[in-house]
Amino acid sequence: MSAPSAHDVCIVGGGVTGAGIARDLSLRGLSVLLLEKGDWGAGTTGNSSWMIHGGPRYLEFDWNTTRLSTQDAGYIVSIARNLVYRVVFIIPVMPHDKNNIERMETAMEVYDRFQPLKKAHPHTRLTAAEALQVEPGLTPDLIGAVTMEEWGVDPYRLVFANVQDAVAHGARALNHTRVVGLVRDGGKVIGVRYRGSDGATSEARAKVVVNAAGPWVPEISRMAGADVHLRPAKGIHIVYPHRISNFSISAESIDGRDLLMVSHAGFTLLGTTDDDFYGDLDSVDVLEDEVDYLLQAFERVFPSIRAYRPVRTTTGVRPTLFKWRRYEDELSRRYEVIDHAKDGAEGFVTIAGGKLSMYRLMAEQTSDVVCRKLGHQAPCVTATRPLPGNESDVEPAAELGRRSGITALAAMKLQTRHGSNAGAVLKDSRSGRMICRCEPITEAELAHAARHEQVRTLADAFRRVGLAAGPCAGAACVLRAAGIIGGELGWSASQRFDAAREFVRGAWLGRAPVLGHSGWAQEELAVGSWRGLRN
Ligand SMILES: Cc1cc2nc3c(=O)[nH]c(=O)nc-3n(C[C@H](O)[C@H](O)[C@H](O)COP(=O)(O)OP(=O)(O)OC[C@H]3O[C@@H](n4cnc5c(N)ncnc54)[C@H](O)[C@@H]3O)c2cc1C
Repeated sequence: MSAPSAHDVCIVGGGVTGAGIARDLSLRGLSVLLLEKGDWGAGTTGNSSWMIHGGPRYLEFDWNTTRLSTQDAGYIVSIARNLVYRVVFIIPVMPHDKNNIERMETAMEVYDRFQPLKKAHPHTRLTAAEALQVEPGLTPDLIGAVTMEEWGVDPYRLVFANVQDAVAHGARALNHTRVVGLVRDGGKVIGVRYRGSDGATSEARAKVVVNAAGPWVPEISRMAGADVHLRPAKGIHIVYPHRISNFSISAESIDGRDLLMVSHAGFTLLGTTDDDFYGDLDSVDVLEDEVDYLLQAFERVFPSIRAYRPVRTTTGVRPTLFKWRRYEDELSRRYEVIDHAKDGAEGFVTIAGGKLSMYRLMAEQTSDVVCRKLGHQAPCVTATRPLPGNESDVEPAAELGRRSGITALAAMKLQTRHGSNAGAVLKDSRSGRMICRCEPITEAELAHAARHEQVRTLADAFRRVGLAAGPCAGAACVLRAAGIIGGELGWSASQRFDAAREFVRGAWLGRAPVLGHSGWAQEELAVGSWRGLRN
């Protein structure tokens, strides 16, 4: 084992919380090591509903969370302008719904008071005819609707932008690196032991270790002999590779819960469930029952939903704080910063609970606790300091496209990931040739991601640049992508093939729960062609 590196702070977990803390502390001048066992954002963060929102339904039982997350959402949308977009909901009201139109409008009037905090517009009340005019796919049985505005975000890029900025300010950030133990001096935590992707184990010393492992928080805290009690709750989504509607739509489930069909930039997420989870956090399956539960609810308000072809499912586990005698979706989304000095583990701090929409505030308060422990005085600047790519305005996409020989759509997609740094990405040696017919990603961006954005697998490329996110789900592009990434990372021909096959297998596992009869037949053909390629 090599000599341990030394840092002020080591952070365990590269979801949005850990990445946010790494950025905050680096900007305050501390030396930071950030370790993520998978890839940036690949835990709960990337499997969320991709919304920076206030959560109007928390108003009923936890209005302070609505206030805090709306306020923090306001900061996030102004420091990450390239990563966010407005998402407008239609909330249809059906006969016999739990909330009639008056109750629904009253709730929205209350929520409107919070909306200016996140730069969103107030609601509108629609008659049934007006709702059907703007979205003819809604059921004619509805009796009225209200609108509501939220923000969508690319959580993978949000996490990575925080990592990038932390690194730009001196942090070391390693993905595919698992913390396997803590280094102790008596009760005191003085560092971590970690295993990198090469299988080698190393040690790093730190004055403070921060546990930001989302639903894995209890596992890491046990390494320090401390008990953090969560009530993890699983959620799934069905993913469609296009927009079903220009509006996002809510629906009531059979047991009266609020479900959402969210229209993101170029795809649709339909979700989400919220169920106590007792299984293995590293192997969470989507069940066909869960898919049916969602489709049943949406069929009631959007009758043609089953005619659309999903491309995959996602699943994640919420790191919710423990509470007895509550339904899962009534659990508070509060968070807690815990200094484990009280448990005899000096030098160890946990951040548990919370939401993506208030990650910046959670990071600020965790960083305040760390700075106090270190006697370090420096103010938090993350509320106003732009994330990378937001320091200046982006040029018109058509202009960038014309200059670089790519379509305006491809240029615009590039800008949504890289903001004002998009032009620099295209300067990387490779051409502006597209990787895929259905998702406009250039060879240059993929090469850049392998060279500068810690992409080590094709699944990393899916998260970093949206490889195989389109309707082909990789069928048309993974072999080519493996060639480009493999070229950058020095993979042999068989390593490139294995990488592509591993990606296809992973994609199939995510798709299986939403396959019908014809879907299975198509999959058999695809799997057969991969076998043929190997022989
Ligand atoms: C279905 C669903 C939908 C949601 N939708 C929304 C939404 O729209 N808006 C919103 O605000 N919130 C939403 N949430 C909640 C939100 O996603 C989470 O609160 C947030 O993303 C948690 O981030 P995190 O960084 O704390 O955890 P994570 O993203 O899980 O990050 C923790 C990281 O720690 C890593 N890790 C674990 N163990 C180790 C180890 N030993 N060594 C190194 N690394 C380790 C994991 O790999 C993981 O990447 C949703 C949650 C779910 C499940």
